[in-house]
Amino acid sequence: MIVRMKKTANKAEINEFLGYIKNKGLSYKDASSSDVILYGIIGDTKAIMESDIYAFSAVENITRVQEPYKLASKKFHPDKTIIDVDGVKIGGDSFVVMAGPCSVENEEQLLTITKDVKAYGASVLRGGAFKPRTSPYAFQGLGIEGLELLKEAKEKYNIPIITEIQSASMIDIFMEYGVDIFQVGARNMQNYDLLKALGKIKKPVMLKRGMDSTIEEWLLAAEYILAGGNPNVMLCERGIRNSDKYTRNCLDIQAVLAIKQLSHLPIIVDPSHSSGRYDMIEDLAKAALAVGADGIIVEVHNKPECALSDGAQSLKPEKFGHMMNELAKIAPIVGKKL
Ligand code: PEP
Ligand code: MN
Repeated sequence: MIVRMKKTANKAEINEFLGYIKNKGLSYKDASSSDVILYGIIGDTKAIMESDIYAFSAVENITRVQEPYKLASKKFHPDKTIIDVDGVKIGGDSFVVMAGPCSVENEEQLLTITKDVKAYGASVLRGGAFKPRTSPYAFQGLGIEGLELLKEAKEKYNIPIITEIQSASMIDIFMEYGVDIFQVGARNMQNYDLLKALGKIKKPVMLKRGMDSTIEEWLLAAEYILAGGNPNVMLCERGIRNSDKYTRNCLDIQAVLAIKQLSHLPIIVDPSHSSGRYDMIEDLAKAALAVGADGIIVEVHNKPECALSDGAQSLKPEKFGHMMNELAKIAPIVGKKL
């Protein structure tokens, strides 16, 4: 971290700041010249908040040379993390496809969709039992009954399941129902109590990017889970807000590259929640594969027009099958297995 002092700062003000640095267990090097008063702060500065430093009257400007996250950073963990979900390896040379309905609605719906997505090559079944809806009047999910149905589908079709957890108090119940990947939704990316609790277990967690979150905030959220002792974290880019109304969100495809540059954690793309449109999913999935994502999570519904949530962004099973065929053509070209 490099800290530039105000030209007008006096000795006492500068010493007050340097005393603070020493108290934090760090050291400093004076790199001042005749034009500028500059200090290089030496040591692990990740626990230092920039806002605390700006509180010193002598400080003009701060430049970080080290990321504030360490466990999520590629610098300290050059090998990619590969998460083994019941034999499905996420983060290696496979492009993993997770698919299923937005919400678990009933037995017939879930089993029909599971059968189809599995037949077309999905390796993880998605389905929300507890739904974080923008409106309190919208369908909130079947709750525990949804978990029961997911367990049934998992056992019947021998496929791991991913579903969203909204509260730390549900962790034991999710374990009981055999949930394989705990999804943290965009709205909960900064629910730090939840993240800390998920750090205490070893189950894989898929952390979706908050709607307006920066890459750094997202990696710091992942850091909470890693710092708690759970190394099995994957990230999911699900689109960020923009002002346009044509699509629901804007798929930040370059975030995939940013994560690959900065972190060793697997990165999944969600073309359903980013676009909000079924007619864009196949092409966005191709983009995700081409750009080097580790997989996608896609909403599929047998009757999208009757879906209790997110029908407009759900593929019909045959369209999902078409997408899988298209992805299979591209995968070898970009060195991935489907
Ligand atoms: C979902 O996966 O159904 C969901 C609610 O996603 P997000 O948190 O990205 O909005
Ligand atoms: Mn959804």
